[in-house]
Amino acid sequence: MVKTVSCPHCGKSVPWTPDSRWRPFCSERCRLIDLGDWLEERHRLGETLDTAPDPAPREDEVAQVRH
Ligand SMILES: [Zn+2]
Repeated sequence: MVKTVSCPHCGKSVPWTPDSRWRPFCSERCRLIDLGDWLEERHRLGETLDTAPDPAPREDEVAQVRH
C-alpha cells in the first residue's frame, strides 16, 4: 500500500514514492509556487521574527518510508 500525502499547495493526493519527484507537492509547478510564497512571507516577517523554525528536511521521512 502506497502512502499518500496531500499537496501543500492544491491539496491533491500525491503518492509518497520515488516516482513522485516533487513530493510532497503534486508537481513542480505547485512546488515552485509554494516555495515562492514561503520565501515571500519569510522576507516580510524576517526582520522581526528570527526564531522561526527551520523547514525540516524531508530526507529522514523518506528513509523511514523505505524501511
Ligand atoms: Zn499541487
